[in-house]
Amino acid sequence: MKNISFLMKYKDADIYIKRDDLLGFSFGGNKVRIVEKVILDMKKKGCDHLISYGSRTSNLNRAAAHLAEREGFSCTVIFKEDGREGMPFNEWFVKESGAESIYCGPDRVRETVEGALRKAEELGKKPYYIYGTPDGTGNEAVLTEAYTEAYDEILEFEVSEGISFDHIFLASGTGMTQSGLMAGAISHGHKREIVGISVARDEKKGTEAIKRALYARLHRETDLRIHFLDGYRSGGYGASDQEVRELCRHMLSGHGLPLDPVYTGKAFSGMLREIDRKKLSGPQLFIHTGGLPGVFDAACKDMLS
Ligand SMILES: *Cc1c(COP(=O)(O)O)cnc(C)c1O
Repeated sequence: MKNISFLMKYKDADIYIKRDDLLGFSFGGNKVRIVEKVILDMKKKGCDHLISYGSRTSNLNRAAAHLAEREGFSCTVIFKEDGREGMPFNEWFVKESGAESIYCGPDRVRETVEGALRKAEELGKKPYYIYGTPDGTGNEAVLTEAYTEAYDEILEFEVSEGISFDHIFLASGTGMTQSGLMAGAISHGHKREIVGISVARDEKKGTEAIKRALYARLHRETDLRIHFLDGYRSGGYGASDQEVRELCRHMLSGHGLPLDPVYTGKAFSGMLREIDRKKLSGPQLFIHTGGLPGVFDAACKDMLS
């Protein structure tokens, strides 16, 4: 499960990578690990209908649809309508699965979730909304669990190799993955920096979500600083700049490493720039959080040209 290895040298830093994109179901990634914990919680609570919400390029929606199908649960996926043309692969996977798809504007999420919950109940199901209450909070303790476990895998690797990662870098969206890792560090009394490179939110919103999630996981306040960097968003969620796209192409052609321009490509690019800016040396860890369908999207569009 550890999947950690040395990737490359960059300036004075030794970059290691944790390939959570290589987990063995639905293209892996952090969302498969996270939704596996959701499924366990559903079973514990006797639920049999999973409701997910996210963008049309959301890896969470795809992992939710695939895992619900595997378990024999019914599933509703609510997509944030964006008016963009074409169908991203993640949306396509959901449509090909047994899940029902619903589209709504970003200001109508709560009503749409409430409607989906009601409808499932009318059908005699016991529904479960992945984020908790219809306002999108409350399930942080479940959503962060997987990456508290992942933190222990990182520790095991460090002990077995006799090294210690100075920083851990990853792409951060809702902050659930970063919160899980931070909770792991806090419970071991570690102070090292876990750096989330934001792919969407600004620092304030991202940091608040992480604080809330850490409280839900640890039941206490923490003084560990939250590093949620919003300066590498290159145009916001779903957008990307030339530099990120070129880095994705270079890492794919030269290292066989698939990075997508929406999540991991931005994070990897942000990490390199942080290594430059802070002149970091020694072992640094990048967590590859998955998102292979986004690599397909980029490849179909312009990445290989
Ligand atoms: C969702 C996602 C992230 C961000 O994870 P959060 O827990 O929402 O912060 C990072 N990388 C990929 C590939 C993702 O799909």
